[in-house]
Amino acid sequence: MSDTALRNADIDAALAEAKEAYVARNPNSLARYVEATTVMPGGNTRTVLHYAPFPVAMVRAEGCRMWDADGAEYTDFLGEYTAGLYGHSHPVIRAAVDKALDNGISLGAANMTEARFARAVTERFGLERVRFTNSGTEANLLALSTARIFTRRPKVMVFDGGYHGAVFGFAGGGSPINVPFDYVLARYNDIEATRALVAAHADSLAVVILEPMIGSGGCIPASGDFLRMLRAEATRIGALLIFDEVMTSRLAPGGLQSVVGVKPDLTTLGKYIGGGMSFGAFGGRAEIMELFDPRRPDALPHAGTFNNNVLTMSAGLAGLTEIYTPDAALALNRRGDALRDRLNALCAQAGAPMQFTGIGSMLAVHFTRGAVRSPADAAAANQKLKELFFFDLLAHGIWLARRGMMTVSLPIGDAECDRLAGAVQEFLAGRRSLLV
Ligand code: PLP
Repeated sequence: MSDTALRNADIDAALAEAKEAYVARNPNSLARYVEATTVMPGGNTRTVLHYAPFPVAMVRAEGCRMWDADGAEYTDFLGEYTAGLYGHSHPVIRAAVDKALDNGISLGAANMTEARFARAVTERFGLERVRFTNSGTEANLLALSTARIFTRRPKVMVFDGGYHGAVFGFAGGGSPINVPFDYVLARYNDIEATRALVAAHADSLAVVILEPMIGSGGCIPASGDFLRMLRAEATRIGALLIFDEVMTSRLAPGGLQSVVGVKPDLTTLGKYIGGGMSFGAFGGRAEIMELFDPRRPDALPHAGTFNNNVLTMSAGLAGLTEIYTPDAALALNRRGDALRDRLNALCAQAGAPMQFTGIGSMLAVHFTRGAVRSPADAAAANQKLKELFFFDLLAHGIWLARRGMMTVSLPIGDAECDRLAGAVQEFLAGRRSLLV
């Protein structure tokens, strides 16, 4: 056998052993999973939460600590895929929800909180007008449909490896369940090829949508030049530019767009902005958003039973104005930057083919020495080592995404960062022979 084949066999053996220990540690999670498979396909109602041999079930959480069905405690470095920025049961969020509940849940009417929340969101993220939805998926569906109507053009430019919600997955190019728009698939951070593709579809392209840092695809920042090129090209051909800031809005007081200095026509939001409740929003230029003004005879409809539900409106307003202030956003992302630098220094010291990418409070691990500039680069890294890293960190009481993504939420302090650094250091030492 070659050296590589031998190492792969060693990684397989280490993984098998780690999974065996995982199964032994989690009998109650296994029992829950088996029961769930009798009523939900694969025991699952949210694909990202499934992994083999079965997922851990959590029973309780507080701040940045969580406890699973078998009594093990974890430090929550997943932070609900960026939606859990406030931590679990933040007293201010809780008080806002309790107060809202005191006055009824579903009012079937305009309420006193929605416009206040809309003002907080528009001022914070530089939007002229905003509308609320129940999820980021819905926000993107509405924003893309709006762009196609506004420009009277059909095509939607997306990026390979991008993700904009349940029906907008572009890992490996696309998914059969995607909304059947006429897509033009481009390569993230590839300036020349994307410019050529925009030119080739100049008459029919309605909109370009992307995250200014790809989140789910591996926390891969777009270069400023790439974003500036897209802004200039979209304007030149009369297409709209949408930034999906469902995840990245947390990375700076005004969202990541405020850092890179590129203004999209529309922005979509989601995750933590609802204070931990179901949330989505799309907004931007008034001229576009006014298409939804119901006073117009030709107004576009925008329905949604829970669009203005008082729990989300109240939790979101309290979160954005009382907790995640601009100063808090700066401090949290400084903590994230310091943590990522520290973890990367550990990888470099160990000489391991391992690195953490990201910006501020979002990070993802990749097992490669090469630069990670696109989801394709991330996919080319060693996936088995990533799986081993996941199971090893669970064993150390660190909760993270199976795909290696982590976030720093507000309750995470120095002690938690030390714990994560310690777990990474132990992984680097304990798995040294595999990390060559
Ligand atoms: N856009 C991005 C960038 C996301 O990461 C996600 C969810 O992970 C979505 C949209 C969809 O949001 P939701 O899960 O609320 O539908």
